Amino acid sequence: MKREHPDGGRYAQYLEQAALAFGLNVACGIEVLGLEPQGEGFVLRTDRGEIGADFVIWACGQFGTPSDGGLIGAELARHYAAVGRWQDVPGDEVFVIGGYESGIDAAIGLARAGKRATVLERGAPWQDGDKDPSRALSPFTRQRLAPALKGGAITLVEGAEAIALEAEPGGIRILAGDGRSWLSAHAPILATGFASGTGPVSDWFDYNESGLPLLTPQDESTELPGLFLVGPEVSHNGHLFCFIYKFRQRFAVVARAIAGRLGAETAALEAYRANNMYLDDLACCDADQCLC
Ligand SMILES: Cc1cc2nc3c(=O)[nH]c(=O)nc-3n(C[C@H](O)[C@H](O)[C@H](O)COP(=O)(O)OP(=O)(O)OC[C@H]3O[C@@H](n4cnc5c(N)ncnc54)[C@H](O)[C@@H]3O)c2cc1C
Repeated sequence: MKREHPDGGRYAQYLEQAALAFGLNVACGIEVLGLEPQGEGFVLRTDRGEIGADFVIWACGQFGTPSDGGLIGAELARHYAAVGRWQDVPGDEVFVIGGYESGIDAAIGLARAGKRATVLERGAPWQDGDKDPSRALSPFTRQRLAPALKGGAITLVEGAEAIALEAEPGGIRILAGDGRSWLSAHAPILATGFASGTGPVSDWFDYNESGLPLLTPQDESTELPGLFLVGPEVSHNGHLFCFIYKFRQRFAVVARAIAGRLGAETAALEAYRANNMYLDDLACCDADQCLC
């Protein structure tokens, strides 16, 4: 692609080329609705009928499962994931609830579309000095935020815990837990995160108190051997792998586990280790040692 941060169209082209180059068997337009163990493997239930599999790697991400964060009256707002183009959002002044990656991305998108955005956030992730971007705003987002802030199109309000939305004649009132409130002329944008994307197979995972799937050291379901998880919900001992450059370091771990059971050659996976793309020793994930 010869560029960093390609747009969606270019990235889709890249994926198409990668699938062709590696001869991947990709079937589009099939929704997996659930799965059942069958014999030594699985049968996947889909909207196009059943498909058999020896192993299943669940890689459905979270973007398809937006969360309203339990906000009362959330139906009066519009989730970040439901916005196609920021210029189509009604109004010149838009409130965004939540100020982590999607909230700041929304504010930047709105500012670039010539609107003013006010971000209401319970903490202040744009100030957080944590070097783990699973917990603080990523450098790329900060880099994009700085010029938009200078231009005055974005206002960041920290310590604003939105708890409810109420319709009133002038628009939608956003109520905060500390008694403050803001009147939004149009539906505010909810940037309150995403729920687990494991819904269709949730019977086959156990979850910790944070709602994250419990996994073996090979990122396999603790409930159903042969069902693996890759992507932003992978976590181990409180270490989050929700960023792409972190969770992709676990792909070779899953590949080795499956290859081992198939009796397949695994020498090719050493290239991942040689390129720091094989993370099986999680000691380096400790807060003061994180090298990511
Ligand atoms: C605003 C924002 C900013 C972000 N910034 C960064 C960043 O700077 N750096 C970073 O590393 N990460 C970032 N992330 C996180 C990153 O985008 C995600 O973690 C990543 O896209 C997840 O990739 P994935 O392939 O696992 O899932 P996805 O990209 O969500 O892909 C999942 C695929 O599975 C398909 N699917 C879902 N359910 C089913 C089903 N039942 N049957 C069949 N197919 C299904 C979907 O259609 C989709 O194509 C950001 C996320 C957001 C929202």
